[in-house]
Amino acid sequence: MVFVMENKAHSVTLFWFRRDLRLSDNHGLFRALTESGNVLPLFIFDTDILDRLSRPLDPRVEFIHREAGRLKAELERKGSTLLVRHGRPADVFRALAAEYRVRAVYCNRDYEPRARDRDAEIARLCGERGIPFLPFKDQVILEPGEVLKDDGTPYTVYTPYMRRWKKVFTGKGAGQYPSEMHLGEFVRHAPAPEISLADLGFRETGMPFPSREPDEEVIRGYHLHRDFPAREGTSRLGVHFRFGTVSIREWVNRALDWNEKFLDELIWREFYAMILWHFPHAAKGAFRPAYDRIAWRNDGKEFEAWCRGNTGYPLVDAGMRQLNGTGYMHNRVRMIAAGFLVKDLLVDWRWGEAYFAGKLLDFELSSNNGGWQWAAGTGCDAAPWFRVFNPRLQLKKFDPREEYIRAWIPELDTGSYPPPMVDHAAARDRVIAAYRRVLPAKD
Ligand code: FAD
Repeated sequence: MVFVMENKAHSVTLFWFRRDLRLSDNHGLFRALTESGNVLPLFIFDTDILDRLSRPLDPRVEFIHREAGRLKAELERKGSTLLVRHGRPADVFRALAAEYRVRAVYCNRDYEPRARDRDAEIARLCGERGIPFLPFKDQVILEPGEVLKDDGTPYTVYTPYMRRWKKVFTGKGAGQYPSEMHLGEFVRHAPAPEISLADLGFRETGMPFPSREPDEEVIRGYHLHRDFPAREGTSRLGVHFRFGTVSIREWVNRALDWNEKFLDELIWREFYAMILWHFPHAAKGAFRPAYDRIAWRNDGKEFEAWCRGNTGYPLVDAGMRQLNGTGYMHNRVRMIAAGFLVKDLLVDWRWGEAYFAGKLLDFELSSNNGGWQWAAGTGCDAAPWFRVFNPRLQLKKFDPREEYIRAWIPELDTGSYPPPMVDHAAARDRVIAAYRRVLPAKD
């Protein structure tokens, strides 16, 4: 099929924004602007993704909608626009191929299983039309294949991975892609039609979104304060890394100057992305398959009480209420709430993983899966399966003045707060017995 039609005036280069919603320091965009020019930017509200979410309230859709709107306004101030489409990407590309003479499609690489399938389909569709489909590394500093053991196999333990990561990084650096210096290369274009949140089937949630510019002092003091949920001790950048509204290169460079512990956390993100890439079976089941045989209790009522933050264990409940109310839960509390569901209630970690996936503003398949498998002891570099957090001791250690729990459980001292739903010591014995029954002797 001949795609380039004679009556289409100038050819354009499409730049497809996905998880990289920014104009500055954007690798794929930089390459499109400097190598090809006449760049027409595109964003697709993908029905394959939206149809899996629960309408009409999802703050992630609202966040993306806001950020796409911001990009569009910025581009229109420069005489260009952002095409915003709603549909299946393959259908959108077929339609665009009929509307424009497309010279090439540029984008940034996505590593998640569904995204890889989507990109393979678009690459094929472009290939049939003789259009190059060109993805670049932008979302991570080092891709899954760039940090390997000496024998070429992937790491499964974080600390040696992190050491090798730092070595490779020191050798290669992060690269420089100042896309913001080339904004004159966008095509001049009339403003494209808007798509409202309502057109997508969603409404505003009213949830606040974290700033993309956390206080420098917070990052400098990160190693001291990061474990205390009552403090503003972490960056809250998760959602911005998720959707690329900040650049990972910029933040790794800041981390190098400001706080090494913070850098280590950014490397955890790449570690889990690497794990899911090399071990895709972990998306569906235990990293170590023996753990798929655990006899979970999966009591629906108990799960419901956990989801609502009514377990009678204040640190778990405060975390779940923070999640339900803001789309965020502090990392230390994520570990405790996840551990409680799996170990104290003996509920399959995949139930909790799915609940977090539906609620977290910073939801990332690889980090969420990695965090849950860590808490369940079923993953790579996991907490030992016999370590069962005691939620009361954790409270004393990490919220000693009870500021966090009181902020989320106003009825704590009234008769309406429930008593603990399980006896922790008995639950601990129960879970250890359940794990021991299925584990190979050497575990
Ligand atoms: P900061 O502490 O300021 O850290 C900076 C950034 O480093 C984070 O934004 C994140 O991108 C990365 N990071 C930090 N800790 C981790 C970690 N343990 N694993 C991977 N990346 C990390 N993180 C997600 O981004 N998405 C998830 O869906 C997610 N689900 C989780 C589920 C469970 C059960 C657990 C225990 C952890 C999960 N995490 C997840 C990791 C961590 O809790 C969050 O990244 C962090 O709480 C986000 O807050 P922040 O932006 O203030 O992070």
